[in-house]
Amino acid sequence: VGAPSEQWREYQGSPTGTDIECEGWRQEAALRMLNNNLDPEVAEKPEDLVVYGGTGRAARSWDAYDGILEELRELGDDETLLVQSGKPVGVFETHETAPRVLIANSNLVGKWDNWEHFHELESRGLIMYGQMTAGSWAYIGTQGIIQGTFETLAELARQHYPDTDGLEGKIVATGGLGGMGGAQPLAVTMNGGVCIAAEVDEERIDRRIETGYCMEKTDDLDEAIRRAEEAAAAGERYSVGVHVNAADMLEGMLEREFVPDVVTDQTSAHDELEGYYPSGYTVAEADDLRETDPAEYREEALATMERHVRAILDLQDAGSVAFEYGNNIRGQVRDHRDMDHAFDYPGFVPAYIRPLFCRGKGPFRWVALSGNPEDIHRTDQAVKELFPGKDALHRWIDLARDQVQFQGLPSRVCWLGYQSEDDEDGLTERARFALRINDLVADGEIEAPVVVTRDHLDAGSVASPNRETEAMKDGSDAVADWPILNALLNTAAGADIVSVHDGGGVGIGNAIHANNHVVLDGTDLAAEKARRVFTTDPGMGVIRHADAGYQEAIEEATASGVTIPMEDD
Ligand code: NAD
Repeated sequence: VGAPSEQWREYQGSPTGTDIECEGWRQEAALRMLNNNLDPEVAEKPEDLVVYGGTGRAARSWDAYDGILEELRELGDDETLLVQSGKPVGVFETHETAPRVLIANSNLVGKWDNWEHFHELESRGLIMYGQMTAGSWAYIGTQGIIQGTFETLAELARQHYPDTDGLEGKIVATGGLGGMGGAQPLAVTMNGGVCIAAEVDEERIDRRIETGYCMEKTDDLDEAIRRAEEAAAAGERYSVGVHVNAADMLEGMLEREFVPDVVTDQTSAHDELEGYYPSGYTVAEADDLRETDPAEYREEALATMERHVRAILDLQDAGSVAFEYGNNIRGQVRDHRDMDHAFDYPGFVPAYIRPLFCRGKGPFRWVALSGNPEDIHRTDQAVKELFPGKDALHRWIDLARDQVQFQGLPSRVCWLGYQSEDDEDGLTERARFALRINDLVADGEIEAPVVVTRDHLDAGSVASPNRETEAMKDGSDAVADWPILNALLNTAAGADIVSVHDGGGVGIGNAIHANNHVVLDGTDLAAEKARRVFTTDPGMGVIRHADAGYQEAIEEATASGVTIPMEDD
């Protein structure tokens, strides 16, 4: 990727305040979001342009990063910049309501859509891994995933421990304390439980401790289990990062006949070369092997993954609640190690999230471009005022305010969907929220514009047969027309940045997904865009799941007046 850009060194994160260097706030928002993705506080390895999730990058090279900034500074209010796998490739005259930036990352034609071909193109500088929010400039650090992890574990607790207060007294064993996985210990303790998390890279554990996501660390599994059991017995919240390979840790638990209540994993298993560490090597030794013998590295990593999945299945047999947390570890060992029963434990979407998707509910996030935390606190208050009956949402906002540190630009995440309990104004939940924020910006109660964006993991924006669309009712798991229609519709509705990616959390060839940003600058134009985008975007979730035959989605469509042609067929 070349040597880090001088501009990036000078920025050290996103510019803040109300002075802008671009022609308008929409272009400025893109410039700030890109730099926020690469803020050393936010990104995992910013000097390599790596934001999170294995090698998820924000730009293809440092030259391309400089090129994007240059174009954004000059971009007019009626122009659109095209970014192809992290490189600026064209600027066209469009119109004011059109997106300012359109992005396509990592997409390959079906027959060539695999890691081998991707790595070949990457080594020739022709493509970039965009992950999900890395290449679409919507990453906000570990705070971005925390609510999703919190809600998933809360739903698990409701389903499996109906008589318990959340995860109180329960022990969750997992692996991976990277950009996303680092949210796990805090999400467990926010639910009242105890977390033991394996991580091979000690610096990552330290980073999670420094930022309040994890409480302690140890090299000693016996000590971790002892402390976890003591905390669970006392009903106390506790988390510990264990400096060990996750496969070794789970096998160690089986040897000790210690069965955690819940077992999952968020190592970057979707990428066997650059995301997952094989057992028997230190991080430095493995990094050397990757350089000198990538084929051997892959073999070693996949062999460890097989042991890892086997240990998860054995723990499930011994009584743990097991689920895959979206890193495609089951798909990896099924496809490369012929382990047919890898899918004998479920993915988190069918297990805990799909009913929300049917109603158009998904995680969306907003970012204060001012850099002023007070702006987010004002939005927290606005969410609570707008949705007075939603107790879980209020609890989340209060917990987030107390326990989630801001990283980079102050941001917040929450799950809202299509219909509101009180829909007398005909607005979706997300649109009502965005319009309120736009008013607060117009009134000067919020200092500078706010960007509303979301994860690619949303109700109607992703096709991913091993994750978001695993085991769809009608078998349409691999149909990728839906995310493409989602991106086209976001563009038609006037989102300010729209992107389509291949790969993401499950690796090249395993998913297609789309993202959008809307800049709320207090203008009527922003209100018009917000009203449209935050209706069409969650609406895609409703129609996608109704089309697949989910009754909840059909009911949502009927209740909310979402038009579904041929619905009686
Ligand atoms: P990351 O690359 O930032 O972090 C992965 C971490 O795992 C690193 O710290 C690495 O040192 C550690 N690791 C790798 N192999 C290990 C092993 N064998 N034992 C112990 N530690 C090991 O990635 P991330 O952003 O945290 O994402 C992790 C995975 O979760 C990815 O596959 C990602 O696609 C997936 N993901 C899931 C969701 C979701 O919603 N469930 C969201 C985002 C990402």
